[in-house]
Amino acid sequence: MTNVVLNIHLSEMEDQWSWSGNGANEFSSNSVKKLIENNNPAFVNGEVAWEKTLPIKVNFFCWRALINRLPTREAISRRGIIIETQACPICNSHPETVEHLLLNCPGTNMIWTSLSQWCNIPSFHVDSIRGLLDHSNNINTTTSARKKIKLIFITAMWVIWKARNDTVFNNKLWNINRLVDDVKTWSSLWINNREKNGDSMWNSWSTYMSS
Ligand SMILES: [Zn+2]
Repeated sequence: MTNVVLNIHLSEMEDQWSWSGNGANEFSSNSVKKLIENNNPAFVNGEVAWEKTLPIKVNFFCWRALINRLPTREAISRRGIIIETQACPICNSHPETVEHLLLNCPGTNMIWTSLSQWCNIPSFHVDSIRGLLDHSNNINTTTSARKKIKLIFITAMWVIWKARNDTVFNNKLWNINRLVDDVKTWSSLWINNREKNGDSMWNSWSTYMSS
């Protein structure tokens, strides 16, 4: 440990973020996308779609969830790091796996039920992130609505993960109604921003959903 620390040379400069993904230290969403495509066969096989409507951080998060790379307590423990508990910080009664936290925890289940009602689709149960995305692709509705439901699903996972971190690191209370509202707000904002360039289907669809 001492050797590791001694080998680090600190500079007088102020700390700053840098991006070495494209070799030019210049960050761009395209360079992240290229990096992921080049490093992950799932992208090359077209199994993971890059959702242009959603911010890059949300796409990146979704990809990490899909390949089981989120630092849940179960994942941290699996990597040999000793932690106090593997239990889900929301329900405290099940190991915190990606699938449990994002899909099946009693504290997140109700979010999915509310969102299903909002999207006017039947309640559903899936056991994997891939299962969730596949489910969104197979819902019996118009292509346009299916697409938006998928974006809402991805947004929901992202909101749940952020809230989980707030609970773990900032002792914030888990408030299901607030989280459902957050998913509605963020997904509507992103979808509306995108749709400004075309597709008027969203307006009629969102009016329909809120009526
Ligand atoms: Zn739980």
